[in-house]
Amino acid sequence: MPRAAAQPTYAAYTAVWKFLSYGLPEAPIILAALVYTHAKWLQSLLAPLAPFYPYAVFGAGVLLGWRFHRSRLLFALLVLALADRTLLHFASGHGLARDRVVYQAIAVLLPLNFAALALTAERGFLTPPGMMRLGLILGQVALVSILDRATPGLTAALLHSRLLPGWMFAWTPMADPALLAFFVAAGLLAAGQLLAPTQTGRSFAWAMLPAFIGLSAVRPGNAGFSSFYLATAALILIVAVVEASYHMAYQDSLTGLPARRALNEALLRLGGHYSVAMIDVDHFKRINDRHGHDVGDQVLRMIAAKLAQVPGGGKAYRYGGEEFAVIVAGRSAEQCLPDLDQLRKTVEDTRFILRARFRSKKKKEKVLTDRGPGERVPVTISIGVAEKSDRHLKSDQVIKAADRALYRAKEGGRNQVRI
Ligand code: GH3
Ligand code: MG
Ligand code: MG
Repeated sequence: MPRAAAQPTYAAYTAVWKFLSYGLPEAPIILAALVYTHAKWLQSLLAPLAPFYPYAVFGAGVLLGWRFHRSRLLFALLVLALADRTLLHFASGHGLARDRVVYQAIAVLLPLNFAALALTAERGFLTPPGMMRLGLILGQVALVSILDRATPGLTAALLHSRLLPGWMFAWTPMADPALLAFFVAAGLLAAGQLLAPTQTGRSFAWAMLPAFIGLSAVRPGNAGFSSFYLATAALILIVAVVEASYHMAYQDSLTGLPARRALNEALLRLGGHYSVAMIDVDHFKRINDRHGHDVGDQVLRMIAAKLAQVPGGGKAYRYGGEEFAVIVAGRSAEQCLPDLDQLRKTVEDTRFILRARFRSKKKKEKVLTDRGPGERVPVTISIGVAEKSDRHLKSDQVIKAADRALYRAKEGGRNQVRI
């Protein structure tokens, strides 16, 4: 296929995929929940299992939070479970309507707790900060029970204060303070994600949606429905922990490139013809020795960013240390040469500029940029490439052949590509 035609298609494909991936896997989970709660036939089909769903999710979440040391997941589960049990308790007794203070108080507190958990650091359950969080959550239980017997003034404030245009939210039993709490929490989470995106922050933001639907559905005789959505909020948090663990195993944390484990599995999945390029930074030890390990790390990051955009449909991995690998499916080593040489030249031409940045009067650190004044650090890479052939049928043989080619590139004077 001509490259000029293939590349825009590939770029469009990755752009669409990137956009879709913002909603994965949360959007399909919420969609499935909506389908389930609107399809009567599906509900009767799953009726024997439905009562176990919240317990199964809760149990799995506790197990995961405990084994993976995710205290924020545990605290979020506790908040959801307390909300659910309290709502159930009141719903079964007197019928829980919008004019119950307990309901409105829970609807105010739940989103605020989510935002607080998402925006603070992961600390152990049994550490002092962890115990403080536990205390704060249990304190809210006391607060809710006090509010239930509260003075008329407080009750009126929670139930009847007008903060938003009434027509907008007539459909939900949530009063304005609760709606406002959801908006504030959603705004905080969104701002947090824009400033410093994290998997946890993202999952808490998504989990607010089913929590909101669940709380909006609290009506007398409708207890199972809100339990179902609160459990779905928990499910989203659990899935996020599993996903984050998967990423930790397969992604290199320094460069953000897929790691060696991902490379090995990708090689096993490859059928047909392919080439592997091994890439090594030239005289990297010197860079470390001269400018320090931190600057070395930044060099690796900048190189990885270039490798991630390797032309010709190749996929880059961090192989280990200052070595990278690129897999090109469906192309011979010869065919890969122009693109790899382009890559080598891109790195050679990139300006790795060292600047001092003052954190404070005493603390000075060195940062690398690609523009502006400062000391320029010369960085080059050497590349060896090999293809799958009758001589090298297995992937480790191809990698070894590419490694030998890399050695020749080093011997030949570095900053070059060899087959
Ligand atoms: P050559 O041109 O022959 O490849 O020389 P070199 O100095 O690049 O090769 P060598 O293998 O002697 O040194 C590689 C250095 O890379 C040694 C190690 O300390 C450094 N290194 C490996 N991983 C990292 C890392 O993650 N961060 C930093 N800063 N340095 C690393
Ligand atoms: Mg090396
Ligand atoms: Mg090297």
